[in-house]
Amino acid sequence: MNGGKRLFLALSFVSLVILGTGVVMLFWLVMPRLQMLAQWSFYTAGAAASLFLLVVSGGLFLLFLSAITEKDFLFPHGKKQVTVKVLYPINLFLGFLLGIGRERVGESFVEFNNSLVRATRKRIDPGRIMILLPHCLQLNDCQHRVTADVRNCRRCGKCVISELVGLSEKTDAAVAVATGGTLARKLIVDIKPTLIMAVACERDLVSGIQDAYPIPVYGILNQRPYGPCVNTTVDMERIKKGFLSLFGKEI
Ligand code: SF4
Repeated sequence: MNGGKRLFLALSFVSLVILGTGVVMLFWLVMPRLQMLAQWSFYTAGAAASLFLLVVSGGLFLLFLSAITEKDFLFPHGKKQVTVKVLYPINLFLGFLLGIGRERVGESFVEFNNSLVRATRKRIDPGRIMILLPHCLQLNDCQHRVTADVRNCRRCGKCVISELVGLSEKTDAAVAVATGGTLARKLIVDIKPTLIMAVACERDLVSGIQDAYPIPVYGILNQRPYGPCVNTTVDMERIKKGFLSLFGKEI
């Protein structure tokens, strides 16, 4: 199993245990009053609590199984939505209580999400892939406006944009450079991709995965040798491996 997603899996499991314990304790606390009130209310509350726990733990079990095996045990969209909308904020809070930083939880979430994208790869149309890049990948003093059109890149090789344009030509993927979330959302609306391969920092990847839902986002963390948001780069091998694992294509 990919080590990066272990933290998110472990936090999800702990969250599930806490939730289960909370529901059982709540039921235990109200049980005497329910028994005094009416026997039927006791049985109804017991059945509702059991059903709730069964549905939540069953759903999470399928989610964990898909992430670990990278095989598709998910119903269309439903369980992935749970990950994005519910599990991430809970795990973030749990991480905060345990002294685990937002960045580590976010990075692990991205890896967990990538496993789910790989698990559901057979549902993805490979004809409309979009490679979405942050502006900070471009050399800071380059004068060519790649945000307007990435083909403005002169392929001088001083930054990784030239290699990424070359890769998009080989794969027929659309490639776009965004200066922020608003432009990224506009590009997604214009291109209407079936999969987004996004390069960004952990924070932007997490929000991108949430914003782009239900379009699957395969996230690749950028590298920041000069600090955040300036002259960043990306490991091209990770992008090539992403294509290989999703579509079986050697690039
Ligand atoms: S490869 Fe060269 S021309 Fe292209 S964006 Fe980078 S610095 Fe500019």
